[in-house]
Amino acid sequence: MADLRSLPSVDRVLAEPAAQELAARAGHDVAANAIRRALDVRRATIDVGDGDRDLIAAEIARTALADDRPHLRRVLNATGVILHTNLGRAPLAASALRAAERVAAGYVNLELDLAEGQRGSRQTAVAPLVAELTGAEDALVVANNAAALHLIVSALAPGGEVIVSRGQLVEIGDGFRIPEILAASGARLVEVGATNRTTIGDYEAAIGPATALLLRVHPSNYRVVGFTGDVAAAEMAALGARHGIPMLDDTGSGLLGPDPLFVDEPDARSAIAAGATLVCFSGDKLLGGPQAGIIAGRRESVERVRRHPLARAVRIGKLALAALEETLRLHRDPALARRAIPVLRMAHEPAAAVRARAERLAAAIGEGTVVASEARVGGGSLPGLVLESSAVALPDPRSALAAALRRGDPPVLGRTFDGRLLLDARTIDDDEVEQVAAAILAAPR
Ligand SMILES: *Cc1c(COP(=O)(O)O)cnc(C)c1O
Repeated sequence: MADLRSLPSVDRVLAEPAAQELAARAGHDVAANAIRRALDVRRATIDVGDGDRDLIAAEIARTALADDRPHLRRVLNATGVILHTNLGRAPLAASALRAAERVAAGYVNLELDLAEGQRGSRQTAVAPLVAELTGAEDALVVANNAAALHLIVSALAPGGEVIVSRGQLVEIGDGFRIPEILAASGARLVEVGATNRTTIGDYEAAIGPATALLLRVHPSNYRVVGFTGDVAAAEMAALGARHGIPMLDDTGSGLLGPDPLFVDEPDARSAIAAGATLVCFSGDKLLGGPQAGIIAGRRESVERVRRHPLARAVRIGKLALAALEETLRLHRDPALARRAIPVLRMAHEPAAAVRARAERLAAAIGEGTVVASEARVGGGSLPGLVLESSAVALPDPRSALAAALRRGDPPVLGRTFDGRLLLDARTIDDDEVEQVAAAILAAPR
C-alpha cells in the first residue's frame, strides 16, 4: 500500500517550472487537472513510500506537461518505406506547403470568380491542370480516391451492374474492400474471370441489359505471379465503346505519365489515351500531394459525377486543394517534380547518395554499422519494387531502443530486424540526420 502522505500536493507541483509552462499555455485549471491525473496514476501504479518529494514533484510536473502535447506530431521516418500510410503517406513539397499556408491564414477566392465577381467553382483551381497533365477533357477532385470510386459508381451505375475481374477485387487497407465500396454505392457487382486470369471474352459474356460500368482496378498492393493474364485498358475501353458502356480505370497510385523507375505501375495519361471513360487515383501516393481523389476523363461523364449529390459530401477542403494545385503545377515539369516533390526525390535518389547519408548518420551517432538495406515505395503501390538503400544498424535485442525512440521527442521510427534496429537513410532528409542522431543519443538504454 502506497503512503499517500509522501506524494506532493497539487499546489506543490504547480510551483515546478514544467507546471508553470503548462499553466501559461493552457491555463491554471487545465494544469491543475493534468497534475491531479498524473498524481492518480502515480498513486495507483507504484509504492511512493520513500521517494524524494522534490524529485517526485518535478517528475509529476514533467509528466503533466508531456501529456498535454498535441496528439498529431511530426515523426522522423527511418523505416525506408516512402509512402507509409500510418505515417501520413506523402510529405508535401515546400511550395505546396506554402500554398496551403497562404490560403489558410486568410480569405481565399475558393468559390469566387474574381474576374466576373460571381460565384465560381473550387474545381477551377485544379480541373484544367489535371486535364492538361492527363490528356483528359475534364476533371474533378474529391476528398480521397475511395470517395472518388464511391462517387463515380453512385453517379454512373445506380442500381446497375458493374463488371470487375476476380483478380482485381482488392482490399485497399484497414479492411476496406472494392466489393464493399461498390455495394455501398448501390451497384451490383458482377465478378468475371479467375483470380489469376481474366480474358476480354469473360467481360463480353457478362455484358447484359443492366450493365452500367466496366471497372478496372489496379491491384496496387500485391502481385499475382506465374500463369496470369489480364485485359489491357485499351481492349476494355474498346469493348465498352462497342456496347455504349463507360469504362472506369482506378489506377490507384497517382502516376500521371509513364516513369521508367515505376515500370509496372499504370499511369493516368496512358489510361486516358487507351480510351478509358474515366480514371481515378489518389493525391497522396506517387503524385506526392495532399490526401485527395482525382477523377479525369470524358466531359459528359465528369459532369454527371460532379452533379451527383454525394459530390458535395465528399468535396475537397481548401487546404488540400491549395496544396494539390501547387503539386500539380510542379508536375508540369517532370525534372522539377523529381527535385521538389519529396516522394519522387526519395524514390529517384541514387543509391550512392543514400549511402553517404547513412554514413553521416552513423558518424553523428558515433556507433552502429552502415549496412545494405531495401527501401520500398509502400502506400499500397509497387509491391515488387525494391529500392537499393543503406541503413545504420544498431544492436537492439529486446527492441528497447525502438520503443524508446518511438516515445521520444521527436519520435523516430525505424525497422526492427534480427535483433537490430535499422535506420534507413532513404526516407530521412539531409536536414533530419542531426535530429535522428540526437534522438538516439538521448534515448534511455
Ligand atoms: C489506394 C487505393 C485506393 C484508395 O485510395 P485512398 O486515396 O486511400 O482513398 C483505391 N484504389 C486503389 C487501386 C488504390 O491503390
